Amino acid sequence: MYDYDLLVVGSANADLVIGVERRPAPGETVLGSDLAVHPGGKGANQAVAAARLGARTALLARVGDDAHGRLLLELQRAAGVETRGVRVGGAPTGVALITVDPSGDNSIVVSPGANARLTPEDVRDAAGLFAGARVVSAQLEIPLETVAEVVRARAAGTRFVLNPSPPAPLPADVLAACDPLVVNEHEARFMLGGHAGGYDGKEPEDWARALLALGARSVVVTLGAEGALVAAGGTDTAAVRVPSPRVDAVDTTGAGDAFTAALAWRLARGEDLATAAAFAVRVGAAAVTKEGAQVSFPTAEEVAAL
Ligand code: ATP
Repeated sequence: MYDYDLLVVGSANADLVIGVERRPAPGETVLGSDLAVHPGGKGANQAVAAARLGARTALLARVGDDAHGRLLLELQRAAGVETRGVRVGGAPTGVALITVDPSGDNSIVVSPGANARLTPEDVRDAAGLFAGARVVSAQLEIPLETVAEVVRARAAGTRFVLNPSPPAPLPADVLAACDPLVVNEHEARFMLGGHAGGYDGKEPEDWARALLALGARSVVVTLGAEGALVAAGGTDTAAVRVPSPRVDAVDTTGAGDAFTAALAWRLARGEDLATAAAFAVRVGAAAVTKEGAQVSFPTAEEVAAL
């Protein structure tokens, strides 16, 4: 019996957002709107998304000993996430400084802060959480060496789900553990472009096949409004398209995190990849119908009503 359906290992950020008429030139000061503070970071987003669906979820992350860190922890607990794996201190909480202009374009500066101090040792210290998790998921907003330790720290039989965002070259043992590797188009192109021999596939099916050939155990490519595509390794590597429900998209922020969390939870419940993805596209679609990231993540009832 597992304690958790899902252990998320990843980042937690405070997103600090100011609307501006235009961006300041070097040396210039401009006035902006009131500051809005939103919880973010791919790890924190995935944990909240999974817990809101009803998954028994734990988070392993690092925040600063500061007001942003306390806010992020409070919101995780309010969503029902187990936070005893969240380390506190060592650096300020990660922050994204975001300015938004009237056309909606973002300029973003990220200070990884405490996220960059989540170490392999933190992973080893959380052995109890790993022993109790059915599925472990990670992203790349924490050090790659920490993600590599996550792969090693898993109990035998614990499934590993990776969203390589922001994309970076993966060590072979990390890629070989991904079941699945969850990528959007941009991440797929990066992962394949970094591969010796180059990349000439034009369709998502080609990307999935190439990522399997690179070593991933299975692959999911998210395709925005088009849904997703799944492909498993082994003898039958045929890719299967999973269409997304048609919705009026308001804000796609965090859709990928909601999708990946939902997928990981359904895999933890024993569903096959295509069935889990069919649920996850509904969760992603529900998330884009509301403004914001964590506040837009649906409950299981809201997904059923979609
Ligand atoms: P983001 O970076 O915005 O969080 P992403 O680029 O990682 O997202 P997407 O492929 O854009 O990932 O979206 C993830 C999932 O969310 C899709 O597979 C789909 O299920 C859902 N989704 C995203 N955009 C839409 C949309 N316009 N209509 C319906 N579903 C959507």
